[in-house]
Amino acid sequence: MAQPMVGGDGAHSYAKNSSGQGRVMERAKELINEAIADKLDLKLLKIDTSSTFRVADLGCSTGPNTFIVVQNIIEAIELKLLQADRQNPSTIEFQVFFNDHPENDFNTLFKALPHSRKYFAAGVPGFFQNRLFPKSTLHIINSSYALHWLSKIPKEIVGGNSLTWNRESIRNKRFVNEVAEAYSAQFKNDIESFLNARAQELVAGGLMFILIVAVPDGIPLSQTTLGVFYDVFGSCLMDMAKMVRI
Ligand code: SAH
Repeated sequence: MAQPMVGGDGAHSYAKNSSGQGRVMERAKELINEAIADKLDLKLLKIDTSSTFRVADLGCSTGPNTFIVVQNIIEAIELKLLQADRQNPSTIEFQVFFNDHPENDFNTLFKALPHSRKYFAAGVPGFFQNRLFPKSTLHIINSSYALHWLSKIPKEIVGGNSLTWNRESIRNKRFVNEVAEAYSAQFKNDIESFLNARAQELVAGGLMFILIVAVPDGIPLSQTTLGVFYDVFGSCLMDMAKMVRI
């Protein structure tokens, strides 16, 4: 279930333990650049030199990855504007909305905002399964490494007769089908709510980028990096649990 990441900038904070996600984001930069260059239609967006261009990063945590992705997006848009009208340097202003769970450490985020930024920044607390912005206000929406968090534990899983009792495995080796189905149904619900809300908030012709943890079709989880991670992580948890006398 969605929990804010560890705040602050101490040794165990998200800010100090998210370089892995940042590296994937760097690799996604090219895809974002291409999409903005090829698919962003400035005429359809009705962008002129006096417009405000609005970007939102949903599930931003405390940084620094959110600042990197926002910077990449803005640079790609600036390049596009420059190519569209080389004669008139753009006077477009950028506004960036940083959204996360209301309990996210927004103080750390705000203090870490890059001094050299070329945008106006605002924090938007709230759950992204709900509406967060007025209709047709955002030109670009980004969400990295956040949509896999579910809004709640599926109701079939909690309670006395829970099916989540997997004994030796924390993941799907003995994961009963009903459990997988319950999580899958919850994800379907959450992603539907997310997409419905964004469909209203995005302007016509706007773009949305989603970076999400996924398993390729037809490949068992156990054969993916993620599966190996869960195996190791699960056996550590089992060892820790065995050390506790109940
Ligand atoms: N985008 C950042 C942070 C990813 S961590 C990066 O790539 O480094 C995932 C973030 O999503 C967390 O900060 C968590 O609080 C947030 N999150 C999870 N569920 C959310 C929800 N329903 N609404 C808003 N934020 C959510």
